[in-house]
Amino acid sequence: MNVIKPHMQTTETLLDKMQEHEQIVFCNDPATGLKAIIAIHNTTLGPALGGCRMQPYRTLDEALEDVLRLSKGMTYKCAAADVDFGGGKAVVIGDPSKDKTPAMFRAFGQFVDSLNGRFYTGTDMGTSMDDFIHAAKETRCIVGIPECYGGGGDSSIPTALGVIYGIRAVNKAVFGSADLAGKAYAVQGLGKVGFKVAEHLLEAGADLYVCDIHEKAVQAILARAKQLGTAVRVVKSHEIYSAEADVFVPCAFGGILNDDTIHQLKVKAVAGSANNQLLSEKHSEALKRKGILYAPDYIVNAGGLIQVADELYGYQKERVYSKTKSIYTSLIEVFKQAEMDNITTSQAANRLCEKRIEERKKQNSFFTHSKRPKWDIRK
Ligand code: NAD
Repeated sequence: MNVIKPHMQTTETLLDKMQEHEQIVFCNDPATGLKAIIAIHNTTLGPALGGCRMQPYRTLDEALEDVLRLSKGMTYKCAAADVDFGGGKAVVIGDPSKDKTPAMFRAFGQFVDSLNGRFYTGTDMGTSMDDFIHAAKETRCIVGIPECYGGGGDSSIPTALGVIYGIRAVNKAVFGSADLAGKAYAVQGLGKVGFKVAEHLLEAGADLYVCDIHEKAVQAILARAKQLGTAVRVVKSHEIYSAEADVFVPCAFGGILNDDTIHQLKVKAVAGSANNQLLSEKHSEALKRKGILYAPDYIVNAGGLIQVADELYGYQKERVYSKTKSIYTSLIEVFKQAEMDNITTSQAANRLCEKRIEERKKQNSFFTHSKRPKWDIRK
């Protein structure tokens, strides 16, 4: 187990760190070795929802900063996806390859349950569906579970569908038509989401540049292209940025829109699944200056979130797909607003979310017996 070196902090400095967050729960269970933090950022739209990450954080401060940042991101992501959830996140401190046990996740489930419906969670980096099958024995507030447990199963399927609708939206805004065919796309990363996106683009008759650091992933898309009677151009990982494509589709990792990469881009738009694509907000401005339309990542990649949120209504695939397709209209709204206000699309997306939260605050002005969703059929 990773050794945590807690910094001496007064209650005042910890409260300062919380910024606008509503609640932080420190979870300590010596019997199972569980050390975790749950952060609830904002529950205006509904109970907090966010995955649980397991990572060998070097310090408690590092874990705290991560969970505060990620839970705030979830508030925006839920608002943009128009699901009745607020922002939350959890981090378990430890090495997922050797420290996790079923008992640890049962203990984590008990802490989640103690929040009495204020926080719903599921898998994220370093945690798996198996971990949450254990946690679900202790609480109903678990989402993203397999279909045989009443969940929606593989969430990369709706995520990839959302990316396709994100690409259609940038095509409409930039080229005047939402059609996928007849254009070239540079897909970075051919994992769970990237492969499905690339496959869909190929089926639609698009030209593709692809890259992945794993040869197996590259071979899989080459084989699929062969089956479809078409071809893809495989490029080296560092060459994907300068590909002669119309749209860059990042589906690998975050921070890829930065000082080193933006000047290489030849595309007219960016729309992909990777989280936190902009290294910083200034890179959204750099894209705007270069005339590249950026589709904010947290809107484009919300398909998986829409699916797990739907589990609480009693999961229905048709409803999930229909809502995921509305990523198209959300993006068109953001692009229009950005143009009208002469701001970046990233700023416009944040404003849209903040407006939705403010509007809901007004609706919530009277007393309600319980904020627990009335539609949670698993109560
Ligand atoms: P994944 O791990 O299955 O796939 C990532 C792929 O990127 C892998 O094949 C990997 O080899 C490749 N890769 C890594 N470094 C690379 C590099 N330098 N160049 C080229 N390829 C590289 O992950 P995923 O589930 O497909 O998710 C992809 C991205 O989308 C991640 O940023 C993830 O956070 C985000 N995302 C995923 C979901 C989902 O439902 N899976 C939802 C929202 C956001």
